[in-house]
Amino acid sequence: MKGTSFADLKNKVCVITGGGGVIGNSLATGLAKAGVKIAVLDLSKKNADVLADKLKNEHGCDAIGIEANVLEKSSLVAAQKLINEKFGAVDFLINGAGGNSPDATTKTEFITDNLKSLEDSFFGLDLKSIMKVFDLNFMGTLIPTMVFGKEMVQRKSGVILNISSMNSFRPLTKIPAYSTAKSSVNNLTEWLAVHFAKMNVRVNAIAPGFFITAQNKFLLIDEKTGELTDRGNKIISATPMGKFGEPDDLIGAALFLLSNASEFITGVVLPVDGGFNAYSGV
Ligand code: NAD
Repeated sequence: MKGTSFADLKNKVCVITGGGGVIGNSLATGLAKAGVKIAVLDLSKKNADVLADKLKNEHGCDAIGIEANVLEKSSLVAAQKLINEKFGAVDFLINGAGGNSPDATTKTEFITDNLKSLEDSFFGLDLKSIMKVFDLNFMGTLIPTMVFGKEMVQRKSGVILNISSMNSFRPLTKIPAYSTAKSSVNNLTEWLAVHFAKMNVRVNAIAPGFFITAQNKFLLIDEKTGELTDRGNKIISATPMGKFGEPDDLIGAALFLLSNASEFITGVVLPVDGGFNAYSGV
């Protein structure tokens, strides 16, 4: 009977971009425990190697760390050659590289009559930083898909999992570039799912809600008091489950969307958010 276990994941080969980061670490570890061979791709060779060594030494998993830039096709093609030589064909691609930049973040949530300078609003955003955020999240998903998706289409087998975000459904204040870039990731997920559907290659995404990570800790927890900031409090009150998620909460969703348990599912963006997306606040 279909869908009763994730046993089909064993010995499959998964590429995780941005794999050296917080969420990449969790997903790679969860997949390694299910017997998946992991290629950790990261801009930072050190981050990639640290995780690959951990997967090998602590979980007895086949893993390789590779320095690769999701914005440079040639670097991904070079990584693909190494992976194909070591592990054979790639079965899964997780597009994990992504993130926001402080210079693409407005200082204020609203424009009001009291605002001292419009530079603190949308009008003061740095264009180069906006483009950088858009490139990393959108092109950084599209280019690896062009490289690894091609071999999947040629083999008529594969699954791609994009990492979107809660802000892709309804934008969060202050981060217009990150929100629009992630919503474009959702649209691309649907577009690719349709485009690849007849070639047995599925494309889905997960949209993590709020997780405390190194990147956003300063926004959510007051460094001095250890108490939640106003933004942290707002998030908790808008999350029906009343807590932040932990990166490991994403593992089950990833295993499900990569395995045959979801073999008739393509083009979805699955929120993993403690109910945030469903809650109107009333
Ligand atoms: P992270 O900053 O911990 O990890 C990102 C990794 O990507 C880093 O190791 C970095 O070296 C790598 N990277 C950056 N640019 C790269 C490039 N050009 N090529 C290859 N690698 C590159 O981030 P994270 O919190 O683990 O986030 C992973 C994904 O999840 C991102 O797409 C992020 O937008 C998304 N996300 C995170 C959260 C959260 O709360 N942390 C919430 C929703 C979505």
